[in-house]
Amino acid sequence: MKIQFLIFLLLPVSLFSQVTDLVKYVNTLQGTNSKHELTRGNTYPTTALPFGMHTWTPQTGRNGDGWKYQYFKNKIRGFQQAHQCSSWSNDYAVFSFMPVMDNLVVNENDRALEFRHEQETAKPHYYKVTFDNNITTEMSPTERGAHLRFSFPEGHKSYLVLDGYTRISGVKIFPEKRMITGYVNNGHGFQKGWKNHFVAVFDQPFESYGVWENRHNKVKENVSSDEGDGVGAYIQFKTGVKVQVKVASSYISEEQAMLNLTTELGKDRLLEDTKKRAWKIWNDHLSRIMVEGDSEEDKATFYSCFFRASLFSRKFYEIDKNGLPYYFSPYDGKVHEGYMFTDTGFWDTFRAQFPLNVLMHPTMHGRYMQALLKAQEQCGWLPSWSFPNEQGSMIGNHAISLLADAWVKGVRTFDPEKALAAYAHEANNKGPWGPANGRDGYKEYNSLGYVPYPRYREATAKTLEYAYDDFCGYHLAKLTGNKKYQDNFGAKMYNYKNVFNAATGFMEGKDKEGNWKKNFDPTEWGGPFTEGNAWHWVWSVFHDVKGLIDLLGGDQQFCAKLDSVFSVPNTVNVGTYGGMIHEMTEMVMANMGQYAHGNQPIQHMVYLYNYAGQPWKAQYHAREVMKRLYNATEDGYPGDEDQGQTSSWYVLSALGFYSVCPGTDQYVLGSPLFRKTTITLENGQKFIIKADNNNNDNVYITTARLNGKPYSRNYITYSDIVRGGTLHLAMNSVPDYKRGTGSKDLPFSVSAK
Ligand code: CA
Repeated sequence: MKIQFLIFLLLPVSLFSQVTDLVKYVNTLQGTNSKHELTRGNTYPTTALPFGMHTWTPQTGRNGDGWKYQYFKNKIRGFQQAHQCSSWSNDYAVFSFMPVMDNLVVNENDRALEFRHEQETAKPHYYKVTFDNNITTEMSPTERGAHLRFSFPEGHKSYLVLDGYTRISGVKIFPEKRMITGYVNNGHGFQKGWKNHFVAVFDQPFESYGVWENRHNKVKENVSSDEGDGVGAYIQFKTGVKVQVKVASSYISEEQAMLNLTTELGKDRLLEDTKKRAWKIWNDHLSRIMVEGDSEEDKATFYSCFFRASLFSRKFYEIDKNGLPYYFSPYDGKVHEGYMFTDTGFWDTFRAQFPLNVLMHPTMHGRYMQALLKAQEQCGWLPSWSFPNEQGSMIGNHAISLLADAWVKGVRTFDPEKALAAYAHEANNKGPWGPANGRDGYKEYNSLGYVPYPRYREATAKTLEYAYDDFCGYHLAKLTGNKKYQDNFGAKMYNYKNVFNAATGFMEGKDKEGNWKKNFDPTEWGGPFTEGNAWHWVWSVFHDVKGLIDLLGGDQQFCAKLDSVFSVPNTVNVGTYGGMIHEMTEMVMANMGQYAHGNQPIQHMVYLYNYAGQPWKAQYHAREVMKRLYNATEDGYPGDEDQGQTSSWYVLSALGFYSVCPGTDQYVLGSPLFRKTTITLENGQKFIIKADNNNNDNVYITTARLNGKPYSRNYITYSDIVRGGTLHLAMNSVPDYKRGTGSKDLPFSVSAK
């Protein structure tokens, strides 16, 4: 009795003492070895908290260059506040600091310092680099700020340069307060005189100071305030100084920037305080998914991907003095109460990044759904590509995918009627800001049942994605008893059939008279497709794979066609692109036939075997893709990472399932990477995936039990997971050709009865 009592007392203590360091597995340099012709992720070493409003990074590229950090470069010219969805879209609200030694040099090229990666530590909660000249920079993040420290070698004059980046900026220097305040206004989404206000507070006295501007690099000594294009500041500290700066910024006001600084960094005397807290936030976050297995390399890849998946979308709200959320809206330029999020392109992220988020962070997702509808009220359109305002990039109207997915998974923070009305407006109008703002070709899509090519660019891809979005509208309407929209969207969700050419077995471009595009070549990129070819786009029927199987002639033919993707040569017909784009190069390099995991359209494809009686092939290929196309290094992705999407593919796949059709509650089974994975849900429940005998050879599921009962289905539902429980699999090197082949085992297809 006594002994039992003692064990009971000691148990929690021993559990607490065993905090596993998962942050150590994350390499924020993953995917940074990227350039215009070939991207290995197109990432930068993001120093930030999960979904943080601002992030910080070393800067190797010139001011205004979207390629802000490239691994192969050997000079850093600044340490900047960053956001950036993609190198292709540049950044906004950027400013930077750079330590300068001996003589004051402000020019961004001349002040750049050489470094080696051996002298670099790149973790989510802490970035450190020691330059060849022995200056050291360190950074640790908060949600809306950062704590930096610059350590100069003894005996050298020590300057810090603040760079106002591109466009207009202003600075005010307060030497007695050891403080600089100011603003920047750079980036596409920064119209209407909107300012990013910043406050920087130093822990060392200023010896001298001045302002400068980065157009002509003119320095004005002893001037404490200025405003104009590229205006910045400099400070001289005592020789050989070790100086810390706490910095925070706000889109609302300078006062709020100061409040952000006080709230988030006020108590931190040392960078170590901020660092420790950031480490804990990340470790708690990453601990929500505990993986157990033999390979440290796999863990590094997993947690690096999980880190990257947890950066987008960004919180775009701030906390007022009463502790309440409010935000400056990028949609109407006004301040509103509540939550706002930004920096994501739904074309990429509806597929896996949001389905991962709604699993791990349903409360945040609920706030996000409110923010989507608020954005629609504020600018008249649902967001599709927010950066930070609506850019309308890519194709589709995938906000409805997020909304339907949220509803089907139990999120009840929004009015579905309002969501459906907003979507109906989206689907029957064209907005001013790009092809995915409203619906490009909606008139013909509604009258002909497809978007005609060449009348519209990427028309067939648009038809396919509109049909999926219409399914999401239909499904949300059906779930909420809205007959009008159910019928309206339900009538259009089979429109994918209208661009299927039975003669070739592919989706193709079709003109308004009904003629197929001549000289069809399934390896030809562009034209009626978006960043891909017919081999990639034939699979874009997320909601009705059964219907697609029927079009392709049944299960056998369907699986044979999936097989062909990997077995046909990886040749490229550049088509309307006129030359190789990086996605093509990446497909050729992957050397997996026409399988182009470096871009989104085909990322769900390997899971489709589950719908046609050959689930073991999904298991095999999911593992192959994880093994061959991902690692934790600077070359760690098979192409653009894209706002957490390509990382989320890996995270979900490593768990053993994938969100083929967001807007339904199913995650389709693949093959888990680890022997045991424990997911801690937001409600405190745990879902465990056990995979006995799992290793690189034993990738096939032979038996499955859910909570002790035999489980033959090829999918698992959201509620199965969040309720908590155990999915217990036995893995083998030889497939079980029977498991998961019955008609009731198949994942969702809207045409299946
Ligand atoms: Ca992409």
